[in-house]
This record gives sequence, C-alpha cells and structure tokens, in this order.
Amino acid sequence: RPLIQLDDVSKEFAGGTVAVDRVSLAVAPGSVFGIVGHSGAGKSTLLRLINLLETPTTGTVTVAGQELTALGSRQLRAARRDIGMVFQQFNLFRSRTVLGNVAYPLRQAGATRAEARERAAEALRFVGLADQARRYPEQLSGGQRQRVGIARALATEPRVLLCDEATSALDPQTTQEVLALLRRVNDELGVTIVLITHEMEVVRAVCDRMAVLDAGRIVEMGPVRELFAAP
Ligand code: ADP
Ligand code: ADP
Repeated sequence: RPLIQLDDVSKEFAGGTVAVDRVSLAVAPGSVFGIVGHSGAGKSTLLRLINLLETPTTGTVTVAGQELTALGSRQLRAARRDIGMVFQQFNLFRSRTVLGNVAYPLRQAGATRAEARERAAEALRFVGLADQARRYPEQLSGGQRQRVGIARALATEPRVLLCDEATSALDPQTTQEVLALLRRVNDELGVTIVLITHEMEVVRAVCDRMAVLDAGRIVEMGPVRELFAAP
C-alpha cells in the first residue's frame, strides 16, 4: 500500500491560476520520490498539497492511511507530525540556538522541555552537529544550517520528509553532503522522502522514482533509471 496517495488533486489559486491540474500519484513506503519541472510548473504547490499547507480545490490526499483532506484542523495538526519539511532557505529562527530550533517542533507537539532537549540532541547527533548545539544559525555555514533544518524536521520522528529545493541554495560540494545525509535518512531511519528540485543531478543521485511536472500536470512518471536510460 502506498504511504502517500494523491487522487485527482487540483489547486486553483484566487485569480484563476491552476497551479496543479488533476494530479494523481502514489509513493511507496521507504522510497525517495522526486518531482522535477521548470520554474512555475507547480512543484512547490504540489509539495505543499501533500501536508495540506495548501488546501486542494479538488481531489484527496492520503498519508499513512489517513485521508488528510477529510480531517478537521485539530486532527490535521496531529497527522502533520508524521510529515517533516525542509526548506530551500532553511527557515531557522535567528534568535534561537541550534538546539532551540530543533527542539521547537517537539515543544509545539507537547513534549516537556527536558524531553525536547534530549530528542533534539539526538537529532543533532544524527546529522553530525552535536558540537554546534549552543551556537546560532548565523554562526553556521549554509550546509550546516540545512543539516539543522533536517534535524528539526526529523525531531518528531516523522515517516515522511518533504524537501522543497533543499539543496538549491548550496554550492555543489555542500549539495553532495546534504544529499548523502538525505540518503542516510532514507536508508537508516526508513523515512520516505518526497523532494522537488529543478536540478536533474539531485534526482539522479537520490530518487527511486520521479515525476515530471509541466504547467501543473504530470507529463512523465516512472523509475529514475528507466526515465534516464538512453532511448
Ligand atoms: P514551481 O515550484 O514549480 O516554481 P509554484 O508551485 O511555485 O511552481 O507555482 C505554480 C504556479 O502557481 C505559478 O504560476 C505561480 O505564479 C502560481 N502560484 C503559486 N503560489 C501562488 C499563490 N499563493 N497565489 C497565486 N498564485 C500562486
Ligand atoms: P525572524 O527573525 O523574522 O523570526 P527567522 O529567520 O527566524 O525570521 O524565520 C524565518 C521564517 O521561518 C519565519 O517565517 C518563521 O515563521 C519560519 N520558521 C522558523 N522556524 C520554524 C519552524 N521550526 N518551523 C516552521 N517554520 C519556521
């Protein structure tokens, strides 16, 4: 059974832009799924439809057996703890330490201070930043900041990680380091990953399956090694 299933999902914004147009897709548990396409193709909207940061105009979104589109706001908040998100610009609080940033979603989820600190420290160990816990995001490199972003997303032990152009702000070498970390997140933690990117190299490096989005529609979908194979 798929861990993530979108059935006939569309998103029309006020003003009439149809950013996502009748998309259906399924993501198997434990896999890495890539969505590629030009700027404006609808990638970011599609990713945000998976955790209902955008509400679909039509269609249903099911994650881990729960139809998110049928949930009330309270249940949706709980279901979202199963879904971590990583951003291109990291989205860290400047006024909080690295540990404070990673502990934040745990506190939001109701963990005690001590529990949140313990689990945040564990997430930081996983991404190799245990020694940076007391520093502030501004004191870190871009690659380190993104590793903090990944630790924050993993702190609540989600089953799904959504990555929104997670390496687009990074140089090529740092990109490779972050991709290696995402591979470990998938291999060692068994977390299912959906990522969007405009870089084919990223898909080639980490994804099992991919979809090509154009003007809000999926125009190709399949295993990465087949889609990249010479005709
Ligand atoms: P991509 O991530 O592939 O660059 P987006 O999902 O950001 O594409 O955007 C797809 C289309 O939807 C674009 O035409 C964009 O201008 C439009 N769009 C995105 N967000 C909004 C919004 N909040 N309101 C109106 N139009 C939007
Ligand atoms: P500011 O200094 O204005 O608070 P930040 O750089 O700290 O801005 O954060 C930038 C954006 O990232 C803000 O919109 C904030 O809401 C968002 N953000 C920060 N931390 C988190 C988090 N743990 N989860 C989700 N969004 C976050």
